[in-house]
Amino acid sequence: MAWLTGYPRENVEWFPTVDSEKCVKCGMCMNCGKAVYEWTDKGSVVARPYACVVGCTTCGNLCLGEAITFPERAYIRDLYKREGIWGKVKKQLQDEGKLN
Ligand code: SF4
Ligand code: SF4
Repeated sequence: MAWLTGYPRENVEWFPTVDSEKCVKCGMCMNCGKAVYEWTDKGSVVARPYACVVGCTTCGNLCLGEAITFPERAYIRDLYKREGIWGKVKKQLQDEGKLN
């Protein structure tokens, strides 16, 4: 994944959490192209959390019930800094000719 450049996805605690009390079953989150969610009688559940794209919050932004939350952004910023991921992403982009 270009955003992680080989850093193990399972080491990044970034994925949505659904508050079932707030879910109004609008189904919007089922649009996720990464199949993170599964539909149940009780609405949407997070079935494959580590399939979520690190840093993405699209489903949360579009959730009609405002039922979806994510970790604080500071969590991934600190992780990227601590693990040197920013530098690796930049190098990959340079190698691909997207940065100079
Ligand atoms: S944040 Fe993005 S990738 Fe993650 S579950 Fe929501 S829409 Fe899918
Ligand atoms: S987008 Fe929000 S309210 Fe709609 S089904 Fe998903 S979790 Fe429930």
